[in-house]
Amino acid sequence: NADMALYEAKGSGRGRSVFFSDRMRTAIETKRLLADAFLGGLERDEFFCVYQPQFEAGSLQLSSVEALVRWRRPDGTVELPFVFLDLAEELGVVDRLDQRVLDQVMTDQAHWLTLGLPVPRVSVNVSARRLSDPQLPLRLEKLNIPSGRIAFELLETVFLDTQNPVIAANIAAIRGMGIEIEIDDFGTGHASIVGMLQLQPDRLKIDQQIVRPLTLGEKQGTLVRSIIEIGRMHNIDVIAEGVETADHVRLLTAMGCNYLQGYGLAAPMPEAELREGLRTGSWNMPFET
Ligand code: C2E
Ligand code: MG
Ligand code: MG
Ligand code: MG
Repeated sequence: NADMALYEAKGSGRGRSVFFSDRMRTAIETKRLLADAFLGGLERDEFFCVYQPQFEAGSLQLSSVEALVRWRRPDGTVELPFVFLDLAEELGVVDRLDQRVLDQVMTDQAHWLTLGLPVPRVSVNVSARRLSDPQLPLRLEKLNIPSGRIAFELLETVFLDTQNPVIAANIAAIRGMGIEIEIDDFGTGHASIVGMLQLQPDRLKIDQQIVRPLTLGEKQGTLVRSIIEIGRMHNIDVIAEGVETADHVRLLTAMGCNYLQGYGLAAPMPEAELREGLRTGSWNMPFET
């Protein structure tokens, strides 16, 4: 038994070893419980997505929305991705979550269309695992995704693997189906900018870590400005996430950022609430600008 071995090896430091091994055992037990609940949740279809609006800078008209995965446990608790996403990666099932979200998005868009509502383009987050699946184009073709309705948000870290021919081929196939490509969390993933631009993404999404400290601090301003300039030079739209304050809206708009997303404009919301926004065209923004 590993815990006993640890206990005996320490000799004089006994109390400490026992304390740590108990903590380790508790952590392992907690993780096992979470994994059981999570896998059961996949079987019981407890995952769904909420939608966060994305607005055109300047007009503050709705341009598109991002779908974000959530987990509703049997007791009604709704968990955020940080609770289960790493686990899903570890268990090798994160692509099932991505597919679940895409299924809901397509169902919801078809529903909005039958209600006569404007149907915004929806961005879904795509894991590296899913993007490097050689079967992905085939799987997507079966879904008959209408052209121009869906965008895939790919993390910058995906592009660290630029030598992977499957990823390059998949991105080409995805674009061929009329699905747009966005680079999520741009500016924090340490990937080669040249490599990312070669893939000709449709949008760069400035990471909220870069956007949030944007007050009147010159340094952050320079970084945001540079990313917007990269977008302009390469004819790629730029969206800022983590837009929380009226100052953010004002500064980003003045800098020429194309689109804005953040709690300062609209938080992620259930489908029913988004549908109401699509119907009324009003988003109850926390502040007027
Ligand atoms: P992300 O794609 O960068 O999504 C933005 C996250 O920031 C979301 O957190 C959103 O709720 C939050 N957010 C939005 N506006 C603001 C703001 O103004 N301030 C702050 N502080 N946060 C804001 P969420 O929903 O917890 O998602 C976290 C991450 O989980 C996402 O980051 C994305 O990387 C991942 N994720 C979400 N849904 C999926 C999915 O369906 N599949 C995969 N593979 N990953 C997903
Ligand atoms: Mg995203
Ligand atoms: Mg992001
Ligand atoms: Mg992020």
